[in-house]
Amino acid sequence: MGRPSPLYFAKRLSERYGTRIYLKREDLNHTGAHKINNSIGQILIAKKMGKQRIIAETGAGQHGVATATVCALMNLPCTVYMGATDVKRQHTNVERMKMLGAEVVPVTSGNMTLKDATNEAIRDWCCHPAETFYIIGSTVGPHPYPDMVARLQSIISEEIKVQLQEKTGRDYPDYLMACVGGGSNAAGTVYHYIDDSRVKIILAEAGGMGVESDKTAASLEIGTTGILHGSRIKLMQTDDGQIIEPYSISAGLDYPGTGPIHCNLYETGRAQVLPANDDEALRAAFLLTRLEGIIPALESAHALAVLEKVKFRPDDVVVLTVSGRGDKDLDTYLSHKDEIKFDF
Ligand SMILES: *Cc1c(COP(=O)(O)O)cnc(C)c1O
Repeated sequence: MGRPSPLYFAKRLSERYGTRIYLKREDLNHTGAHKINNSIGQILIAKKMGKQRIIAETGAGQHGVATATVCALMNLPCTVYMGATDVKRQHTNVERMKMLGAEVVPVTSGNMTLKDATNEAIRDWCCHPAETFYIIGSTVGPHPYPDMVARLQSIISEEIKVQLQEKTGRDYPDYLMACVGGGSNAAGTVYHYIDDSRVKIILAEAGGMGVESDKTAASLEIGTTGILHGSRIKLMQTDDGQIIEPYSISAGLDYPGTGPIHCNLYETGRAQVLPANDDEALRAAFLLTRLEGIIPALESAHALAVLEKVKFRPDDVVVLTVSGRGDKDLDTYLSHKDEIKFDF
């Protein structure tokens, strides 16, 4: 998959924010995001268990593509559940999955996004437990998935340690930053630093049209304790325990909860969680593109947007994970280009 992914000193971005910013380039992985770290690990487990069929859910399509890729490699049939809304807004990824030989099943329940795709995948899994392995794409779902996915993604912080030592002379940063959907790229980014109190953790969740509005996916900020897809988490729900449909411009962050690990990091205060709204993420994506020549995924742009909200010192070392590349989001970016104020 092209590991280790580079740790890249973003010179012009650093100048703009008056600090030292290093980008962990998961966007440069084969298939274009961090999801492949997890899919390759889980398919090896599936093989070892003698499973004959793979299923997966996907939001933006990155996890579907990563899973379809490892299925082609391992010669296993693959079915990917994807919300019908996401099938539309992420069509190039749908085409990639089909090219790789996967069957893509559009899901038309709920608001036809990630939660609904996950529901459908769990239904399939429950009906075919003997021969089917469900490759979950994030640190969500029933145990042991959140733990297993976090461990498989922990390669990100394992590499950051070595790379930071080489580049800065110490193996820890002052800040770690990542976006959170289900939480897997963030879990991988912080995994080997969780008990290191010298390192501050800042996570960006999708504010959508604003945390106060009814169009948001900021589940850590507004969620209450509940159970979804087999884990007890902070959840966007009504008083009756019905899910409130999340909203984000980014298909990969459009989930009404976040993994149990992140809920714990939030509740214990280990991580600071800040929302980034749609417009802030769009602007941050154009900013990175024009300053560094890197088109980030819309999800990753939420982490970049949060750079605006933190006061750094000039000698701070900030490591921010760019979870994926932006090719899949070009239609969205170009349709909003006129709203961006280009003062950079
Ligand atoms: C799936 C995805 C995310 C969100 O998932 P996490 O499990 O929170 O990492 C973020 N960025 C990209 C590029 C993705 O594909």
